Amino acid sequence: MAKILLPDWINYECVGCGRCCRRGFNIYCPAADKERLEKTDWAGRFSRLAEKKLFPATGGGYRFGVSESGACLFLDDDNLCLMHKEIGYENKILNCRMYPFKLIHSHGKVHVGVLFSCPAVMENRGAPVASRKTQIEKLLAEQDRLFPPPPFEEEARFDKSRKISYRDLRFLEDVIIEALAEGKISLIKKIVFASELLDRLEACDDEIFTGKIFYETLLHMRERALDEALNGGISAPKVGKLEQALVRQFLNLPNAASLTDLSSSSFGKRFSARLRRAGMALAGLFSPGKIHTEHGAAEIMAVRKVDALHLPEESEELLSRYLRTRFFARMYFGREGQGLTVLSGARLTLSLAALVLWYAKAEAAVRGAAAVSPEDVKRAVLQVEHIFSHLSNLDSSGQALQLLTRSGWPRLLLLHVLLG
Ligand code: SF4
Repeated sequence: MAKILLPDWINYECVGCGRCCRRGFNIYCPAADKERLEKTDWAGRFSRLAEKKLFPATGGGYRFGVSESGACLFLDDDNLCLMHKEIGYENKILNCRMYPFKLIHSHGKVHVGVLFSCPAVMENRGAPVASRKTQIEKLLAEQDRLFPPPPFEEEARFDKSRKISYRDLRFLEDVIIEALAEGKISLIKKIVFASELLDRLEACDDEIFTGKIFYETLLHMRERALDEALNGGISAPKVGKLEQALVRQFLNLPNAASLTDLSSSSFGKRFSARLRRAGMALAGLFSPGKIHTEHGAAEIMAVRKVDALHLPEESEELLSRYLRTRFFARMYFGREGQGLTVLSGARLTLSLAALVLWYAKAEAAVRGAAAVSPEDVKRAVLQVEHIFSHLSNLDSSGQALQLLTRSGWPRLLLLHVLLG
């Protein structure tokens, strides 16, 4: 069995909240499982299931039926699963037993991702995930039997035209993960640092991806990017007011002067160009309209007024842990031909924190509050992560991106500004 890599900073113990079986529920059920499960007389055992379509057909397979509220039909009033009660944990389908884990094969190893759409994971409750190795090994064996691992790849796609060896990719990820774990730097500066690093790599000659100098080059860039993220001191890119407003909103920077943090000569130029292209798209964001959260809708203008400039330490720590986990598990880019490149996936992942801040502000606006609270941030993480991770038949950021960006401002914003 492939070596399993577990994140040692994540704890998890199910608290039985039932959230994973509610809201936007869409669990794919393989035909063989459907046949097996239909041997139980569900309607006879549970009258509320009578005349319900328990396994409606979906594109090429089946899924579990849902109630009007969007919850799984098999979710009982006590938040527990009827299948679990009736036929036992071992007989539930793999997708249900897998949550909140994602087991991602990459370069001969299996990276364990943990989904923050689960409140217990988000709150870091319970025993370390590392102590569940035996359970995860069993899940992996089953997953590999049903879905054979992809062929071993020597290289990943760095961007549209270049490849990167997995050894060099791990160096890059380690640098970002280490920075995200650093307690003394604010989240914004961590994001600025990682964005800066990615932009500098993008601007590099092809040789650094093919030769043996990647690691040294990366270390050199890390020092410079870190220094600039911490100290600023580079002139701001020439962007319009709308664009500056976007940057402030999106990365939650305290004032326009902080744009100096965001820019270097190369970074500023490219960022400015992307922003210009996005100008039209942003009209929707800054004109009257609403942003919908799980708890209600808030006017965009009200959202903009919410002060999220000083995130409580607890919220910063949560977001850092969230991003770090996605990078560690390689949840940020899909396999070749299926998902994003490393560069686009990494930018998208960094933007998730910004998206969370947007939703956190909206949560505060729905409450009528003037500032974001840790609870707003937690709700926003659940909301954003839910969009990205809950549909069981999505297994790459590329597919999740398509879902997230199907409509509204995130589509244009992410595609034009972040993915360039
Ligand atoms: S969301 Fe997490 S804590 Fe809640 S029932 Fe599902 S696995 Fe358990």
